Amino acid sequence: MNRFVLAVATGLVATMGWHSDALAADVTEEDLKNDQANTGSVLTNGMGRHLQRYSPLETLNKGNVKHLVPAWAFSLGGEKQRGQETQPIVHDGVMYITGSYSRMYAIDVMTGEELWQYDARLPEGILPCCDVINRGAAIYGDKVYFGTLDARIVALDAKTGDVVWNKKIEDYKAGYSYTAAPLIVNGLVVTGNSGGEFGIVGAVEARDAETGEVVWKRPVIEGHMGELNGEPSTMTGTLNATWPGDMWKTGGGATWLGGSYDVETDTLVFGAGNPAPWNSWLRDAGQNNDGTGDNLYAASRIGIDPATGEIKWHFQTTPREGWDYDGVNEVVAYTNRAGEKRWATADRNGFFYVLNREDGAFVRGVPFVKDISWASGLDENGRPIYNEDNRPGNPADAADGKKGEVIFASPSFLGGKNWMPMAFSQRTGNFYVPSNEWGMDIWNEPITYKKGAAYLGAGFTIKPNYEDHIGSLKAIDPDTGEIKWEYKNDAPLWGGVMTTAGGLVFTGTPEGNFIALDDETGEVLWSFQTGSGIVGQPITWEMEGEQYVSIISGWGGAVPLWGGEVAKKVNYLNQGGLLWTFKLPEQMASAN
Ligand code: CA
Repeated sequence: MNRFVLAVATGLVATMGWHSDALAADVTEEDLKNDQANTGSVLTNGMGRHLQRYSPLETLNKGNVKHLVPAWAFSLGGEKQRGQETQPIVHDGVMYITGSYSRMYAIDVMTGEELWQYDARLPEGILPCCDVINRGAAIYGDKVYFGTLDARIVALDAKTGDVVWNKKIEDYKAGYSYTAAPLIVNGLVVTGNSGGEFGIVGAVEARDAETGEVVWKRPVIEGHMGELNGEPSTMTGTLNATWPGDMWKTGGGATWLGGSYDVETDTLVFGAGNPAPWNSWLRDAGQNNDGTGDNLYAASRIGIDPATGEIKWHFQTTPREGWDYDGVNEVVAYTNRAGEKRWATADRNGFFYVLNREDGAFVRGVPFVKDISWASGLDENGRPIYNEDNRPGNPADAADGKKGEVIFASPSFLGGKNWMPMAFSQRTGNFYVPSNEWGMDIWNEPITYKKGAAYLGAGFTIKPNYEDHIGSLKAIDPDTGEIKWEYKNDAPLWGGVMTTAGGLVFTGTPEGNFIALDDETGEVLWSFQTGSGIVGQPITWEMEGEQYVSIISGWGGAVPLWGGEVAKKVNYLNQGGLLWTFKLPEQMASAN
């Protein structure tokens, strides 16, 4: 087929309108609001800004998923591969994906052919903590947006890939980077920042989507001043209320996983990572656990007014955090079986929390991994009841003053659950949580802040808790905390989960299998070997009456870099970089 004929054929597809918004190129706030319900496109990270990752599509279901076959695959190319954690965006006949080393691709969603590719020119000396990954793009108006490893946010023309604007979030030389998908709300591009292992200061920023100019900025560590329309706004928290001396100035709390948005309460929710440094004794103003050493708002979830950047509420999962239990994991808005509006989040620290949607108040918290050692439970406000002897020892108490007492803590610092997103099913009312059963030896050391250097004051080695599995996908009833079923996996799970109205739960494994499970029993109904480990995030959509499913394959992420004994256990896994798209052929949709 010559180029002219191809152009005509492409034009025909467009005029036939294979899905309802095929001709409406510009993405509006209304489109973002309706993203979950509109099954012809996927416009937001999380498949809706509530981050439920639930599709109302049921063309593909428990009876026919066995007929799911590849439609096309797309190679990211390049000499360098590494972890591929993107969630694709699908709009107007085009799929947008991001790749390792801050790359973005536009792909013809029918054929898998590349339309354009953008490679960020990264400077020498970037400081990504946990692999050179990227978790996806955002789309709004006629532009697509993504964050880069040198802590910038780039807006590209969605049609051509040409740069419209390119703005600095923070100084990469101080350890800042960015890897999360941006969140678009009311014409603002909202981002966090990464770099919690370098003593950066976590913040949330909102920019004008047209110009890239900052509208507001909200640091998430107490004592720092916010910004609104170019002027100082309000201080975050109360200076030195929960931080000793000047430690808040390099207090961490990286907001590195992005956020969710609830239109009903008009609230953004972002999580803040570990306080810096990891050695908790250096920022402990209240050694009697009286709240004065809580280090707000690190290791917390924070509700923010999207118009002004003011903090509406906060919920701290791990006060005086000392195990690298970042509080960043996604906060999903949902309605429970009784019709009550809730947030839910599964924390690195091993507890699954349910919060009131209106004010972030604690409703319930239950363990979702087996061997939590650092706390015996949660009190009526959701504050952990610490096992004080499971806090890594103070180096000042050691004979040489250099290495505090080594303890074995579970979960490991990579968490009962890490970044990989869980899903909620409106069909079953359950959450599907990708978790890991592992622990660590951890100890504290002295440390002083130095710009651009790791700021930990800790050493560690991750170990499996069980011989036969680390990964554990769990179906959790958020009303009771009951674990309905568990799917065990040899390697640690590091990919996202998706649910559908067809009764399916999709996820992938580091061993390379893309799997569909029965949402009620956990039985594996379909599996496909993608050729490399899956650490990406699945999506589904429909066009021309057929349901499609996509997942990126490409092993990497934090486990091979930080996983200690676990990294050695999985060092046989091959890298890759392929975006797979599957479909259920029309004639198979009715066949069981
Ligand atoms: Ca961290």
